[in-house]
Amino acid sequence: MKRDLVIRNARVVDHDGEFFGGIAVHEGRIVMTGDNDSLPEGQREIDAEGRVVMPGVVDPHCHLGVNYPYNEDMRTETAAAASGGVTTILLYIRNKAGSYIPFYKERRAVGEENAMIDFGFHFGIQREDHIHEIPQVVLQTGVRSFKCYFGYEPDNPIGIVPATDGWVYAAMRHLVKIPGGVLSVHCENTGIATWLKDELKATGRQDLGAYTESRPAFCEEETIGRMLFLAERTHCPLHIVHTSVGRGPVLAAEARGRGIDVTVETCLHYLTRTCYDEDLDMTAKISPPLRERSELEGLWRGILNGTVYSLGTDHVPFFPKKGEDLWQEVPGVVCFPWELPLMLNFGVHQRGLSLSRLVQLNSYHPARRFGLWPRKGSLQAGADADLVLVDMDEERTVHHTGHGLCIYEGWKLKGWPVMTISRGDIVYEDGHVNESFGRGQCLNRPQ
Ligand SMILES: [Zn+2]
Repeated sequence: MKRDLVIRNARVVDHDGEFFGGIAVHEGRIVMTGDNDSLPEGQREIDAEGRVVMPGVVDPHCHLGVNYPYNEDMRTETAAAASGGVTTILLYIRNKAGSYIPFYKERRAVGEENAMIDFGFHFGIQREDHIHEIPQVVLQTGVRSFKCYFGYEPDNPIGIVPATDGWVYAAMRHLVKIPGGVLSVHCENTGIATWLKDELKATGRQDLGAYTESRPAFCEEETIGRMLFLAERTHCPLHIVHTSVGRGPVLAAEARGRGIDVTVETCLHYLTRTCYDEDLDMTAKISPPLRERSELEGLWRGILNGTVYSLGTDHVPFFPKKGEDLWQEVPGVVCFPWELPLMLNFGVHQRGLSLSRLVQLNSYHPARRFGLWPRKGSLQAGADADLVLVDMDEERTVHHTGHGLCIYEGWKLKGWPVMTISRGDIVYEDGHVNESFGRGQCLNRPQ
């Protein structure tokens, strides 16, 4: 019996190894992997010509619908994601107005009308009742991942309500009782950052380095340590998002040695950019900030030695930045199309990162942490056929045409996705996104 799609002659890479052969796909799922001769015939046959096939990227960290309307972001940005080999995105979203239950229904429905690829949510704790409603939200939305934010001063330009230690402790007490429950924390000391911001502001400096110096690395290290303490007390799984400091993965590894369930994420900008890069100005403000080179190298050590658990893009499309006042500038950049090329270029080609380790960082680990595995981040029979075909030798220059700020414009990178497959459908091929909006599914379902 012919299967819908069969890929042959591929270097097939999973999180725990690789082999030469291919993958057969039927009705949106992987039905088998194996050497070329063992695979069935396909309605459509793809000859990978020796190129790499891996699980599609599961990007567990993005923000959509922040500036541009949510429905628009769910079209433009999921198309951008598909072009980068991303097949699942998880949105950290916030609802200051009230309960997450009606909010989820609306965001899921609008998402499914527009998205090209599958998506899910983490909910931000922005008021006390968000903590009290955690058990109900879990039942009625299937979302088991929540986020607390530190480091946002009272008049921050994006209106985030910073957490207190009380909020974190209370949320952890709920989440530890929920199978798969996890708390993500943005770690920066709110009080110190607020104080230092006033000091740096008074100097009149407007350079990107001044923003970094207003929230030094120790602010982040302090809060990581404090969250580890609370995770140890409560036994709640803790996920430290967008770690920008080299000490982050070290502190987490020590904590794991004491039995704490903690995982560390970092982002591509902290691995490739510093706050003193001469071509960057205040528009490259990101939260937490870009740092100096020693932190960047520390994070690469964590990538290579296994103490960094996963990668996220922190992709957030803002309106064109004003570049007028450092302290009022909104923080954030976009990354979906270049996450994989940046990791292939700087990780695999330049630093000898193995492709299996890349699959762990990009697909397997995020899927494990957020309850999506083995449906996502896996090449097992039965998994969703979310795949990316990669040409390791292709060299291309970054040219951004979509929404948001790209801080890699003009960079020549080696290693690019050439085809993206989402649940068996080819959504990106030969440089073109197949604009099939509204086929994406929400991965969080009421229980
Ligand atoms: Zn973020």
